[in-house]
Amino acid sequence: MLYNFNINKKANSFLVIDVDAIVSNYQTLRSKLSNAHCAATLKANAYGLGIKKIAPALDKAGCSTFFVATLDEAVELRKILNSNRKSILVLNGFLAGAGRIFKHYNITPVLNNFCQLETWVDYNSTSEDRQKAALHLDTGMNRFGLDNKDIARLMKNPQILIKANIYMLLSHLACSDEPENVMNNRQLLEFRSLIGRLPKVTASLANSGGIYLGKKFHFDLVRPGLALYGSVPGHLQNNLTNCISLYGRVLQLREVDKGQLVGYGGTYKLTKRSRIATIGVGYADGYQRSLSGLSTVFHHDSPLPVVGRISMDSITVDISSLPDNKLEEGNFVELLGKNFTIDQAASLAQTVPYEMITGLGRRHYRYYNQIKDGL
Ligand SMILES: *Cc1c(COP(=O)(O)O)cnc(C)c1O
Repeated sequence: MLYNFNINKKANSFLVIDVDAIVSNYQTLRSKLSNAHCAATLKANAYGLGIKKIAPALDKAGCSTFFVATLDEAVELRKILNSNRKSILVLNGFLAGAGRIFKHYNITPVLNNFCQLETWVDYNSTSEDRQKAALHLDTGMNRFGLDNKDIARLMKNPQILIKANIYMLLSHLACSDEPENVMNNRQLLEFRSLIGRLPKVTASLANSGGIYLGKKFHFDLVRPGLALYGSVPGHLQNNLTNCISLYGRVLQLREVDKGQLVGYGGTYKLTKRSRIATIGVGYADGYQRSLSGLSTVFHHDSPLPVVGRISMDSITVDISSLPDNKLEEGNFVELLGKNFTIDQAASLAQTVPYEMITGLGRRHYRYYNQIKDGL
């Protein structure tokens, strides 16, 4: 498929999301598992990439359990899947009064503390057919989940678990992006110990990084999010494929004399006469300002340095290394893709790929397919 970006005269940028690559990454992740099921974590609109396109593709690929953060996201996903067969779980918990919505859309709460567990039991015992729920156990992250004390309290009244119809116990790793961190094994042992004290149900510990920590972290179900898009922080040897490309339009070309300054603050001074291209993507589009003077864009495979500060709606690029007339106003350069990946961008911007991906802005025109040559 070859896109002719120039047909669209409104767009300053195109974000191309390769859904086939996402499905292939899902299959690669699944091939690493022995018996565990591979769920998909699609919170925040599938990390900002578009749940409407990504969820049906994973559904079709055989994924049967989806995690989102909020009830709104879960309802949206249920409508997208258009069937009650697959499980949708809400990671951010359960609030009194929301039970009817959970039931209506067949959505499963992940209960995050004792109070939510009791509220859920109250609701579930008034409901005719008992709905299932998952229970989050805290193994050291101190963010969500029942801790040791809560479990002791629960053991005194095991009826609660039965009434709550708990079908899954899960916990979350704090340091799966640091394979050598002792915290990983500590959480693994703690998780084993906690689930060992409770009735046996589906157990789940691993996010993307957890999958790459090895089989003992897999339990019955794994919950990758970021890895679906080709990135696993801390585990760079992962056989996954990049699925995100971002292209920005050349809005202006100019010849600038030696000694001139470029951009806000005049932070970049030209050491020779240069050709500068202004591209219509800025920090408001998720091209982070902290990349100023650090990142590189590409014209096909030729690297072109971003010079001066990144503005809200544009960046400036030194294209002097290209032969004359190679790049014209209205053409596109590649801002993210196989040449400059989300991981590289995040690392240069001193953030994580999660923030980089979820921050990709709304102004980009989005295409969901493979792309061979978008320039
Ligand atoms: C976000 C999240 C995941 C997915 O994490 P990735 O690192 O993107 O794979 C899994 N489990 C929980 C509880 C989460 O909050």
